[in-house]
Amino acid sequence: MGEFELIARYFKRPVRRASLGVGDDCALLAPRPGMQLAVSSDMLVEGRHFFADVDPQALGHKALAVNLSDLAACGAEPLAFTLALALPQAHDAWLAAFARGLLALADAHGCELVGGDTTRGPLNICITVFGEVPTGQALLRSGAQVGDDLYVSGTLGDARLALEALQGRIALPADVLATARQRLERPTPRVALGLALRGLATSAIDLSDGLLGDVGHVLQASGVGASIQVEKAMELLASSAYQSSAGGQFEQDFWRRCVLAGGDDYELAFTAPPSARAAVAAAALQADTAVRRIGQIEAAAGLRVVDAAGHGLRLAFPSFDHFA
Ligand code: ADP
Ligand code: MG
Repeated sequence: MGEFELIARYFKRPVRRASLGVGDDCALLAPRPGMQLAVSSDMLVEGRHFFADVDPQALGHKALAVNLSDLAACGAEPLAFTLALALPQAHDAWLAAFARGLLALADAHGCELVGGDTTRGPLNICITVFGEVPTGQALLRSGAQVGDDLYVSGTLGDARLALEALQGRIALPADVLATARQRLERPTPRVALGLALRGLATSAIDLSDGLLGDVGHVLQASGVGASIQVEKAMELLASSAYQSSAGGQFEQDFWRRCVLAGGDDYELAFTAPPSARAAVAAAALQADTAVRRIGQIEAAAGLRVVDAAGHGLRLAFPSFDHFA
């Protein structure tokens, strides 16, 4: 199978909303009047972001999911994406499974594949997504206000738990590992929540590198500080390992690290004023995504994690950094 046959077989599909899709030198997109294009790229590299033996269908899903998560964090509606793919070889079964996982998620979000590049090389997947957001309504990192509530969607920690187990640092019961692994390998981008939070959230970010580090980006961009109540944050931990007796097998610090600095969760962290609590609850309901209030934005710079008595905890959990 040659390069062009490969593209035609797995990645060329009829266009829908795009003006021109795969097959020419450029794709053409026509954002609707009054809309801005939201654009983001994320690259997945073998050995860095996934293991060589990962299920290709899950990999296809995740490669697009992490990109859709960026659109979600901006409150943008998915429109289209491009796929730049380096492959060691054109293996039919692998490509079919990869395309299945990728395109199923794409179809679920009405996000069409309009182009890309295909080359031989170490396995590397780079997707660029394009979304639409009404002019001026994108959710940004820079809008958090003193007095705002700090929220997180869904659950945190299971992706890190799975990673610890897959890298052999901990042992987990098979059923617990299977659930946690699902979160690591098939994250759910919170697109519906991002859309529902337009005009409501003052700032937002998606959690890819760990809660503390990513919220830190919001604080820096907004020129504010924050406190997080550790008990409330720990309620974000869904892991059945934690709920069961196996939870006692690990120290409290281990579980805190999973939640506060786990990474790869692809939930949204966002801020909104206390006057918007009912509206935030309604948005969460509309998006069918749980949200939890875990802290508040404060004038004093920095991010404090406090216990029930309001005492600051000393935590040294670095968030993920490829070059640290
Ligand atoms: P060019 O050399 O002009 O950049 P290519 O020969 O690389 O174009 O690609 C031919 C067409 O196939 C282009 O429209 C390109 O966008 C598309 N394409 C290439 N690789 C992929 C891929 N992995 N997924 C989707 N479309 C692709
Ligand atoms: Mg090319």
